Amino acid sequence: MSDRDHHLLPPDTGRVYSACPHDCPDACSIISYVQRNRLTRIQGNPDHPVTQGFICRKFSGAPERVYASDRLHYPLLRTGKKGEGVFRRISWQSAIATIAERWRALISHYGPYCILPFYGSGTEGLINGKIAGKRFFNRLGTLQLDRTICTKSGREGYRYTMGTSSGADPAAIARNKLIIAWGCNTASTNIHHQTFLKQARQNGAALAVINPVKVRGSEAADYLLSPRPGTDGALALGMMHVIIAEGLYDQEFIDRYTLGFDALKQTVNQYSLDKVAAITDIPATAIRDFALVYARLRPSFIYVGPGCQRHSNGGMTLRTLACLPALVGAWQHKGSGLYFPTSTIFPVDTSALEGEELRPNAPEKYNMIELADRLAQKDPPVQSLYVFNGNPATVLYNQNKLRAALRREDLFTIVHDQYLTDTARYADLVLPATTQFEQSDLIFSYYHFSVLLNHQAIEPVPECRSNLDTFRLLADAMGFTDACFQEDSWDIINSILALDHPALSGITMDKLLANGWQRANIETADELLSQGRLPTPSGRIEFYSELMKAHGHYPLPWYVPPRESRERTPELYRQFPLHFLTSSTHSSLNSNYAQFNDLHGGRDSPTLIMHPQDAAARQIKSGDFVAVFNQRGRCRLVARVDDSVKPGVVASQGLWWDRQYPDGTNPNHTTPDFTGDIGGGSAFNSNLVEVMAVTDSQMTTTDIRYAC
Ligand code: SF4
Repeated sequence: MSDRDHHLLPPDTGRVYSACPHDCPDACSIISYVQRNRLTRIQGNPDHPVTQGFICRKFSGAPERVYASDRLHYPLLRTGKKGEGVFRRISWQSAIATIAERWRALISHYGPYCILPFYGSGTEGLINGKIAGKRFFNRLGTLQLDRTICTKSGREGYRYTMGTSSGADPAAIARNKLIIAWGCNTASTNIHHQTFLKQARQNGAALAVINPVKVRGSEAADYLLSPRPGTDGALALGMMHVIIAEGLYDQEFIDRYTLGFDALKQTVNQYSLDKVAAITDIPATAIRDFALVYARLRPSFIYVGPGCQRHSNGGMTLRTLACLPALVGAWQHKGSGLYFPTSTIFPVDTSALEGEELRPNAPEKYNMIELADRLAQKDPPVQSLYVFNGNPATVLYNQNKLRAALRREDLFTIVHDQYLTDTARYADLVLPATTQFEQSDLIFSYYHFSVLLNHQAIEPVPECRSNLDTFRLLADAMGFTDACFQEDSWDIINSILALDHPALSGITMDKLLANGWQRANIETADELLSQGRLPTPSGRIEFYSELMKAHGHYPLPWYVPPRESRERTPELYRQFPLHFLTSSTHSSLNSNYAQFNDLHGGRDSPTLIMHPQDAAARQIKSGDFVAVFNQRGRCRLVARVDDSVKPGVVASQGLWWDRQYPDGTNPNHTTPDFTGDIGGGSAFNSNLVEVMAVTDSQMTTTDIRYAC
């Protein structure tokens, strides 16, 4: 640590600017109040243009959680069976020495690829969520993680059309005549967006919701379309068919800014209304009426949530949806067009700080969705797993396969977390992690255009350590003397701010310390287009993409049914005729906070929403225990029968921890671990299941096998 300015230290008593670390588009700027090194309260920063002084209930209880009794406070060594969660306390010194000794032996025998890092989005901090881990694992020479599960398919598909991840500025939508919420639930997952949606509505904008589930706010929609899961791309093709057939497209915009309109015309000709109605289960008249609304209410804004791209056809779905605004010329207007939340909206490449030059071998990645397969592979065998910022035993798919791999006695697993998560219960060693208030970091947003400072508010509660500090300890124990492992958070923040990228221009440490945030110079798609700098090969919006063809994809928007569907797998569909969607819930965030739900009067619980028609056919009523099952596995939930899902669709919102499910299995015991069509993203919504009512005594694996 260099000479540290006093004002960079935690304040003991006073206030500092923090930032919410969560995988949430809002990325709130926060003010943290401290008294005698104790965090007393937090509030949303009133001066941040999106946070506007308020934060969600998920994060508002953060101060009490810093001091919660169930938080991990010291390292643990497993003494029970894997998965049992039985441990004894050990010292940090012993934990680090044990890891280093074991890893040295494993590397000398198997080479560095026998150790796998795994991390999710436990913190979105550039240092503790990204740089610290990458540096260490690059130096160690392990495979690096390809983080695919969230939006990789969608953003790569979108880029074939637009050349960039950027879309419209979602906070500048007030002047649109039509807002479309397509496959998203922003009232639960992006609450600050409601402010901007409200402004547009007060100005007279119509609201359309496209979703197979009636999400919060859909009751207020002017237009409601409910496509069969995985058919959103077909719906967009049907809409384009109508708009082109009726001559309602913007010819001037198309001539000036797009490529391949004639080819698009021929393609959409193949998507008649009757054909699209049969694919989507939406009446042809409703598709036509809505296409006309979209063509006539200009300008318009489409917010596409990640849900409709978490299918085996998700990349092509986003590539197709991205063509709609070009057809009606929406990109000519600021705040119009389309927005798809994805982390690459923040375009700054931090790889220069990630230690790739330290590798003893060539860099190579593995797809995080394939974790279970990697752990099961024989050549080369994976002998150790290091998990931080993540909880794969809850959030990954095909859990029976993953849990079997995590139970391997010869797999040396280390988990660094704040709580004894479902994954930590399978660990050999558990390390206690700091919260956001006990570390400094820099946060970006994939919704608004800010860089936010998270200034350490308090000293770590005893024995908890940040990812950065833990990797520094491990580096030291492994004998790595590289200078980067001596750097503290403030050194790295300074290095990030010094990166040569226009998005960071003008952002300084002094300004961040003074305000907590600074506007990043992020360019929207409409700006890039109007300045002739859209980064597609042609510089235009590409209805036809030669690049897609070169990459082995069909070069035009197209619809391929989901990998599990009545069209592609009729025999499977006969056995498992219900589409199972596992979307977000209002009270938790990925698997964060689920563990608190039962501490707050059970305001949510793991339920299965089922349409009355499907429930009646199976003699299921609300409150019944039901088994949800398929060829991969099963879980048990409590039925809630209502029409908030369409017939043929069942949905469970949120991911709880094992202990909160009636039989300790979550919906990811049924979800598939095959990947999407483009970019290797997740496809867990392409999931067919059957449901049956069960009593406690019936709930055995044998019964489910029999039912299958
Ligand atoms: S979870 Fe989202 S809305 Fe809630 S405080 Fe964090 S960034 Fe803000």
